[in-house]
Amino acid sequence: MTSKTQPWEVKRFLELFTADPEFREKAVQSPNNIISRYGIQLVPSEIQDLWQESQSRLFDRRTDTSINYTNWCTKRRQNAYHWLQKLDTDLPSSFRHWRNRQANRYAGQAADGFARRKRLLPFAIELSEGCSIGCQYCGLSAPKLKSVARYERNNNGTIFNSIIQSLKNYIGEAGATGFLYWATDPFDNPDYEKYIQSFNREFGIPPQTTTAAWVKNIDRTRQFIELRETMGGTWDRLSINSLKELHIIMQEFSAIELKDIDLVLQNPESLKTKSCAGRAKDLSINTQLGSIACVSGFLINLSQRNIKLISPCIDFERWPQGYAVYAETELDDPIKQIQEFFEHCEKTIFNESLDIEKILSLREEIYITNHEGQLNLKTQYANIIVKDKIEKEIVSRINGTLSVSEIVSEISKTNEINPGLVLHAANTLYEKGIFEKLPNPPLLQYA
Ligand code: SF4
Repeated sequence: MTSKTQPWEVKRFLELFTADPEFREKAVQSPNNIISRYGIQLVPSEIQDLWQESQSRLFDRRTDTSINYTNWCTKRRQNAYHWLQKLDTDLPSSFRHWRNRQANRYAGQAADGFARRKRLLPFAIELSEGCSIGCQYCGLSAPKLKSVARYERNNNGTIFNSIIQSLKNYIGEAGATGFLYWATDPFDNPDYEKYIQSFNREFGIPPQTTTAAWVKNIDRTRQFIELRETMGGTWDRLSINSLKELHIIMQEFSAIELKDIDLVLQNPESLKTKSCAGRAKDLSINTQLGSIACVSGFLINLSQRNIKLISPCIDFERWPQGYAVYAETELDDPIKQIQEFFEHCEKTIFNESLDIEKILSLREEIYITNHEGQLNLKTQYANIIVKDKIEKEIVSRINGTLSVSEIVSEISKTNEINPGLVLHAANTLYEKGIFEKLPNPPLLQYA
């Protein structure tokens, strides 16, 4: 059995159902009327099992149309996984281990942490300073737009090309998962399309794009979509900040034109949950404990000429934007200094093994329970089970005063075990991210 309904028609139905309360109501009362108003080509009863409200499925029955749609979605995701998997193989060992430890840390701290463990990206490059949109929910609290790095000015194009070459040399093909915005909107830069073409030449696919500024110039958005169709890569995203924008996009673009564009349904009426970082934590909306920061790696600003090493966190007191900065430097001579920054991170931050002089203490939110001979290192969102005898000995001695070497020596003497085995067990625990503490923010400078 096959379904004649095209998956992008289902996609359009579900977007409207999720974002527009009137559509939701009418879809239940008189579905045929509402889909003909929007020109959606499907039979609503064929996808009833996909309608969702308040995260719970209304119908259990699977139909050919809905199976066809979910298969289509899975195929799209597989393309993205292909590139994400390279993060497990291409990255230099020490950077990869550091990212794993941070991902394990975040998995125990945030509601979305486990789901995002394998989806934290290695770099982002901002092509402007600040953002012209000013979304109330901005998880990164982007300040107002101050400057834009035009491709042809200040040697920006040449420097950008050198930066992405350096990133490719260091990160490998997995660098294709990097992207060109952060607390910025890509379309604030009139030359964004030139930058993605440079990126495409270097990595073989363009970077993923998310923009809320698509509505400012529909012609540009249309040309951008056409350009992207020539390049391949994964899907792009247009943010929808109001019902008005939702209706504009439905009028301006057909379902098939947006088949490779996801709509990020951020309008207040949408059923989508937001993370509580940045400005979103001040909104009286349904949020979950988490950060929107999706980079565990390098954040570069071409306009400000600086680079940071960052990783997501939920310590909003110390890091209100939802990511901690582990190191940063100005890039007066970007081509030379970016390489030096990688080396600095390798030497001082990415340490693959525990420093034996390190005083061991667990992350603050971890508490320990003992169950049938195994230790459970628990947080609100994770449970790390420790069964190995030596690892249990180590955990039971961690008290915030003993160093790694002191613990290793004590256990090896008491139990007559080779110290190398104890150190190996300590490093196994280290990999789980249980010792990962966030850096302190820089002290405010007073003039
Ligand atoms: S969410 Fe994106 S578009 Fe909106 S203010 Fe923040 S950076 Fe700008």
